[in-house]
Amino acid sequence: MNGTAAQPIHTAVIGAGIVGACTALALLREGHRVTLIEPGPPGGEQAASYGNGCWLSPMSVIPPATPGLWRKVPGFVADPLGPLAIRWTYLPRVLPWLARYLAAGWTEARVARTAVALRAMLRDAPALHAALAAEAGVPGLIERRGLMYVYPSRAEFEAEAMAWRIRRQVGIEWLELPAEEMRQREPALDRRYGFGVLVEEGGHCRDPGAYVAALVAQAEAEGAARLARRATGFRIEGGRLRAVLTEAGEVAADRAVIAAGAQSRALAAAAGDRLPLETERGYHAMIEGAETGPRTPLMPSDGKMSITMTDRGLRCAGQVEIAGLAAAPNWRRAEILRDHLLRSFPGLPRDLPAERVRVWMGHRPSMPDGLPCIGPARGSADILHAFGHGHVGLVAGPRTARLVAALLAGRAPEIDPRPYDPGRFR
Ligand SMILES: Cc1cc2nc3c(=O)[nH]c(=O)nc-3n(C[C@H](O)[C@H](O)[C@H](O)COP(=O)(O)OP(=O)(O)OC[C@H]3O[C@@H](n4cnc5c(N)ncnc54)[C@H](O)[C@@H]3O)c2cc1C
Repeated sequence: MNGTAAQPIHTAVIGAGIVGACTALALLREGHRVTLIEPGPPGGEQAASYGNGCWLSPMSVIPPATPGLWRKVPGFVADPLGPLAIRWTYLPRVLPWLARYLAAGWTEARVARTAVALRAMLRDAPALHAALAAEAGVPGLIERRGLMYVYPSRAEFEAEAMAWRIRRQVGIEWLELPAEEMRQREPALDRRYGFGVLVEEGGHCRDPGAYVAALVAQAEAEGAARLARRATGFRIEGGRLRAVLTEAGEVAADRAVIAAGAQSRALAAAAGDRLPLETERGYHAMIEGAETGPRTPLMPSDGKMSITMTDRGLRCAGQVEIAGLAAAPNWRRAEILRDHLLRSFPGLPRDLPAERVRVWMGHRPSMPDGLPCIGPARGSADILHAFGHGHVGLVAGPRTARLVAALLAGRAPEIDPRPYDPGRFR
């Protein structure tokens, strides 16, 4: 960095989800003076980082759109409760984004290119999280015992051959578990699953909300200031950032990082960029005090949802609903997750009282090509975008933060930043 000991660079980090929290810590360690601007409680329910599936999955390298997905679009619009649904009233607005989304996954070669970029971002992520959690005094929140995909039979696994082929190409390894071995590992899992895949390098977070809160508390302990307000724009003069504008006045700053998740689009526009950020809304259903569940977090192939035992309960997270930021949640979707959970673990009581099942809806911040936007804004190189992590924001937080710190320092980053450059949309 080019500040001096007497006058460190003052950087405003906008948003304190996992990306903002990790970024604040990375910048403090580079000697920046950091102010976090976040209207909600750090780690609170307003953030996608609170209610996600908890997976730290370095193998989540396949973008949501894959070849042939376009054929299913009419079904996405027709079935409001399908695993991927597009609310028809929102369709006209989302069409340009949807066209890019489908195009990004049009061929296997395109998917493979995205996978290479995601792999660079996600490799070693569980170890990076474990180190951060230890430094923040919450080492128990990160576990590294692998992640599992379960299928009715090997045939369903083989039907996903392209995804697993690409995973192998980017260096991901796994163990294939026949029925007997899987049942030994997961005795409570419904017996309709007869084949499993264990990715040993995967990890999970036992409570993402508490984890983000601990990281923010650590940043504050290391000197970060926190302002409980909403950022609204920037004062830029001659291409240099002078201040971040907020609903309660200006905050003078030398640099700013936009890490406001799905709400980053207007801030990006204020920094000179029209970027195609959408929200893929997702849900969780969580049974508090669950009597049984998986030993290893797992994802049943027929539900496409993650099932993870957390410190708050047994959480089932998933679903993609394209309906924008403002529409009310469709809680029927959370009921589908709950029902799938009950079917997957028959030992769970059928007569659960309503107060034991918590439901949540959150906004994945999604770029159409399945890659985040990390890099300088057009209106001022003092402002960095750091959003758009879609389905992998939790796992990608620490590496994003390191990339942001290197870019702000003008240093060569440890991974090639070009795939994430916001300039790809200009
Ligand atoms: C159902 C579901 C399951 C998921 N499962 C996983 C998973 O298992 N693993 C994984 O890696 N990822 C998962 N994800 C994705 C992951 O949760 C997100 O990609 C990630 O949390 C995004 O982090 P973020 O910090 O960018 O945004 P957020 O966590 O949304 O944080 C953004 C913060 O910015 C604040 N903010 C908004 N506007 C402003 C403003 N104007 N000024 C200041 N602050 C502002 C918000 O209050 C919020 O706290 C899942 C998501 C969902 C919805």
